[in-house]
Amino acid sequence: MKRAEDLDAGGRTVLVRADLNVPMEATGGSRAMGSGGSPPGQESAPPGQHRITDDGRIRASLPTIRDLLARGAAVIVCAHFGRPKGDDYAARAAGGPSLRPVADRMAELLGQPVTLATDVAGESARVIASTMAAGEVALLENVRFEPAETSKDDAVRGELAGRLAALADVYVGDGFGAMHRKHASVYDTPLLMPHAAGQLVLAEVAVLRQLTTSPARPYVVVLGGAKVSDKLAVIGNLVGKADRLLIAGGMAYTFLAAQGYRVGDSILQAGQIPQVTQALADADKAGVEVVLPVDHVVADRFAPDAKPEVVHGPDIPDGMMGLDIGPATRDLFARKLADARTVFWNGPPGVFEFPAFAAGTLAVAEAISHVTGLTVVGGGDSAAAVRHLSMPADAFTHISTGGGASLEYLEGRDLPGLAALEAGE
Ligand code: ADP
Ligand code: MG
Repeated sequence: MKRAEDLDAGGRTVLVRADLNVPMEATGGSRAMGSGGSPPGQESAPPGQHRITDDGRIRASLPTIRDLLARGAAVIVCAHFGRPKGDDYAARAAGGPSLRPVADRMAELLGQPVTLATDVAGESARVIASTMAAGEVALLENVRFEPAETSKDDAVRGELAGRLAALADVYVGDGFGAMHRKHASVYDTPLLMPHAAGQLVLAEVAVLRQLTTSPARPYVVVLGGAKVSDKLAVIGNLVGKADRLLIAGGMAYTFLAAQGYRVGDSILQAGQIPQVTQALADADKAGVEVVLPVDHVVADRFAPDAKPEVVHGPDIPDGMMGLDIGPATRDLFARKLADARTVFWNGPPGVFEFPAFAAGTLAVAEAISHVTGLTVVGGGDSAAAVRHLSMPADAFTHISTGGGASLEYLEGRDLPGLAALEAGE
């Protein structure tokens, strides 16, 4: 892949596809809105009532943008944000979410104005692009206001890609978190113009390559998060590579149910039990040790003010739901991580957004921070959790900005965004 740092950027307009899909909180509401992995049953608040809870992805996009600006480019940033609803552009733009709070935060962090276009690749974007000076930054509105962005129809995506490409001279792909999407701004646009990979993408790929090619052993993988269905494919691929698999979070209840334990009202994907049973059998055959929770912190409802209670043992009583791993599991996981030389962690082991259920996530983060070797945190919510816990910056080797993208890479799949950046060389 060509590197953005090697581009002749002076006097040119560069379209940077970044991943600015930061978690937001509805001001006035109590739950955080995850960057794709919101707690179950959650609705997003109306536009204009959100606050950024973790600006990590904005910060991660800055080195490439700063470098291009310093070398005399005008930079137009393109990104998606949340899940706009509606059949057409007008409905989506009216419903939001707008990238306005992201533009404001980016301007603060860059220390210079960031002009937000009022559209994605329409009149406003065209006027800004054609009047920008070297050293200036603009942000296009939420690219998912354009239904074409995510269309399955190549021609439909191609039309939007053409409008995006017309805004700039060069394309830089730096939105690692979106690289697994065959979307117009990720896949089709770079194919239409000279392109290169940004610093974030290159750093992410370098670490993931290390995880997949002869990792130092023991290689321990910690998986948590809400849904087992999101993680089954990666489990399948890791079974051949990792030595130990520690499973927690909401997904653990489907594993416990598959083993015949009672899970009460915990989040359960009963339809996935056959696949989970198969994954356990495969792990056993491959000699991979699978470690499940042995106790829990439970409550009678999914709420920040629900009363936490410890349940000793793997069974959860009727009427209660598991919202975090218990103290014995925290100790067990810490022991299973102590001798690791490579760790990959994806998905919080509990509902860390609620302080009463964050102890498991903190314990796992601390145990991993003591490991000598390569330690990688992947996943939007996991990364947010780690930053939320204010761990020292060097606690992990790498905190990935890409949840789904890093998982798909580890699953051994080709990422369309990377393929496009590699094309035509
Ligand atoms: P990542 O973004 O790091 O890949 P996921 O999106 O898979 O992580 O999952 C994150 C979500 O999982 C968090 O919002 C967290 O509250 C939720 N979660 C963790 N444990 C549980 C649980 N026991 N019950 C319900 N949700 C849970
Ligand atoms: Mg998530």
